[in-house]
Amino acid sequence: MSISSFPTIGILGGGQLGKMMAAEAVRMSINVRLLSPKDAGPMQAYSGVMAGDWTDPDVLRDFGADCDIITVESEWAPAAEAADALGDAVDVWPSTHTLELIKDKGVQKQHLADADCPVPDFECCETVDEAVAVANDFGYPVVLKQYRGAYDGYGNATVHSDEELREAWPDLATDDGLMVEMFAEFTRELAVQVARRPGGEQVVYPVAYTEQENHRCHAVEVPADVDDDVAEKAHAIAQRSVDAAEGVGLIAVELFEMPDGRVLVNELAPRPHNTGHYTIEGCDTSQFENHVRAVLDWPLGSTDLRRPAAVMVNVLGEREGTPAQPDTLPDALAVDGATPHIYGKPDVRPGRKMGHVTALGDDRADARNRAEEAADALHL
Ligand code: ATP
Ligand code: MG
Repeated sequence: MSISSFPTIGILGGGQLGKMMAAEAVRMSINVRLLSPKDAGPMQAYSGVMAGDWTDPDVLRDFGADCDIITVESEWAPAAEAADALGDAVDVWPSTHTLELIKDKGVQKQHLADADCPVPDFECCETVDEAVAVANDFGYPVVLKQYRGAYDGYGNATVHSDEELREAWPDLATDDGLMVEMFAEFTRELAVQVARRPGGEQVVYPVAYTEQENHRCHAVEVPADVDDDVAEKAHAIAQRSVDAAEGVGLIAVELFEMPDGRVLVNELAPRPHNTGHYTIEGCDTSQFENHVRAVLDWPLGSTDLRRPAAVMVNVLGEREGTPAQPDTLPDALAVDGATPHIYGKPDVRPGRKMGHVTALGDDRADARNRAEEAADALHL
């Protein structure tokens, strides 16, 4: 039974992002309802969890009946179906418009380019011959990208010759082909989180340096060790991109810092993001709290860092099977100033994101050492 004067937020999704969003909402006594297509491990800690066919209008109407607002933890959750089923009764954020713009990498890149947000050169190619011509025009290597459904680098391929392109094409291409993108010889990958209210008011988080290993984010260091003008550009471009997408809630902007000082947008994610997990301990207001505030159209909180540096390290699965609470958790907890997060996913697979550790410190090296030490102690 909910306390009627407190709003109820409905979250479509049963993973760690929904869990961390729900945790912030619960702290403020905002009621939370969660809908996912199957019983999802990370959410088991919460009441108000529903498992059901979340594309079914009746299920969505039932779920939405007590909600003041609905949001998603992923761009692949059925936000459009929820908006259709619920009509004007309940707002769904981010909007279908924003999600349609972002979900398709070709549409997204074109929209950003049209809004004067700098992006790597790209071309949407329907056929392999078209792609080969574009690749020769750009010069190899180029990155082939599927338009929809890709994550953690699955769905992308970097190719170095006509032969490699022709070989990669059949496995990756969909009916509308693939996007061919110039390979960005970046100095660093950066990320900036932006929270935006329905009326357009924004707050922006510090610039984060994101370190990838095997196409997956390994660690995030904040603030990124970049020149002030690069940080300024990253902020301005991130904020312009989020305005262009009319994003509401938390939107993460992945960026490339180029050797000549340019900053390019790689892609947007219309939700809290792995590169923003450091904000939970690191900032006055976490990305999850500001997401909740933004979708409720409430005042946004300060994004200031609480300590000079924050470092987040991902904890990836090491084996195949069913995880138990790791008995190594106390070892990680013994590392001073490190905060482990275990997502509670029911299955573990090698390379799957199972948790993360954040440490704060006086400088990046200090925070980094502690985060790595605690993350190394955990085995899942
Ligand atoms: P994720 O889920 O990790 O965000 P994704 O599957 O949506 O990834 P992208 O973000 O497009 O894929 O690419 C994954 C990674 O591949 C990037 O973080 C970057 O390291 C590299 N990459 C992508 N595009 C380019 C490019 N044009 N030039 C160089 N590297 C690139
Ligand atoms: Mg990406």
